[in-house]
Amino acid sequence: MWRYHDWMPLKDGEAPVSMGEGATPMIPVPQYASELGLSEVWIKDEALNATGSFKARGMSAAITRAAAAGAKAFSTPTAGNAGVALSAYGGRAGLPVTVFAPKTTPSTILTQIKTFGANLELIDGHIGDCGKVARAFAAEHDAFDVSTLREPYRIEGKKTMGLEVAEALGWAFPDALIYPTGGGTGLIGMWKVFKELKEAGWVNDELPRLYSVQADGCAPVVKAFENGATKTDAWENPKTIAWGLRVPAPLGGALCLRALKETKGTAVAVSDEDATGGATSMAHTASVDASPEGGATLAALCRLVDEGQIEKGDRVVLFNTGAGWLYR
Ligand SMILES: *Cc1c(COP(=O)(O)O)cnc(C)c1O
Repeated sequence: MWRYHDWMPLKDGEAPVSMGEGATPMIPVPQYASELGLSEVWIKDEALNATGSFKARGMSAAITRAAAAGAKAFSTPTAGNAGVALSAYGGRAGLPVTVFAPKTTPSTILTQIKTFGANLELIDGHIGDCGKVARAFAAEHDAFDVSTLREPYRIEGKKTMGLEVAEALGWAFPDALIYPTGGGTGLIGMWKVFKELKEAGWVNDELPRLYSVQADGCAPVVKAFENGATKTDAWENPKTIAWGLRVPAPLGGALCLRALKETKGTAVAVSDEDATGGATSMAHTASVDASPEGGATLAALCRLVDEGQIEKGDRVVLFNTGAGWLYR
């Protein structure tokens, strides 16, 4: 992803903390396009990043800047994949990492966090509960807290997904993108870079419609969007097996809502069963080993076509944000 260094927070001649993240394939799935009457459907397969999810992009950017600014240690709350990425990238920077994860996180993800050498603290609760403990720890131990949207650079890494999509289409935008939304940095990062591409005159198309998909057991963005609200309210008792979506009170909720409204997209909630079914379909149809979050984008696409929000002729990008094997 650092081939886009001119768009990124990197000083001239500086070497980023990198493990070859980015440049993931955008896989065409003509079966979905013909079944749904669409012009084209692609899966952008973020599972192929180092550490198995798109979280690698954000951590590469954040750790590069924080290490250069003199951070001595890192900590983060996580629903899972951000912890794996921080463990690996913090390790690459040669600095100690402490990760706070719900004790219900899938065991493969917890094992990966430990594999790269982080100190793992298990918390009885969700990512919001982990955040409180993580911030107290960071203050007490002089660790730098890389929580979603509490520092400015993870989003800069994630925006490279938008650069790759536009480049793959010959510096043009697709009509619609469907993104599984938890903390919101993936969605907000792409919204940001699509506007930067227009300002720079590299792409002259209208902004693509951004669609958020959440789990029906934790859908604060969907609920706020449907109520016409400008900010999200905390979701009580969040429940979903799509761990990356189990974020009951996203700090970037208001920005997500603006991104959806400004691009004329919307937000949909799907059941865990439909998300899992979507992941199975991606594996069987496109040989993409999708996470439940990735599968949720396919379930959302079917819904949006039914509702007439995504129409015949549209070119649509689905994001498989993480690897299915991490959840098994
Ligand atoms: C973190 C995560 C998400 C949610 O991404 P945000 O940028 O927090 O909205 C979706 N899918 C997977 C697999 C994740 O790890």
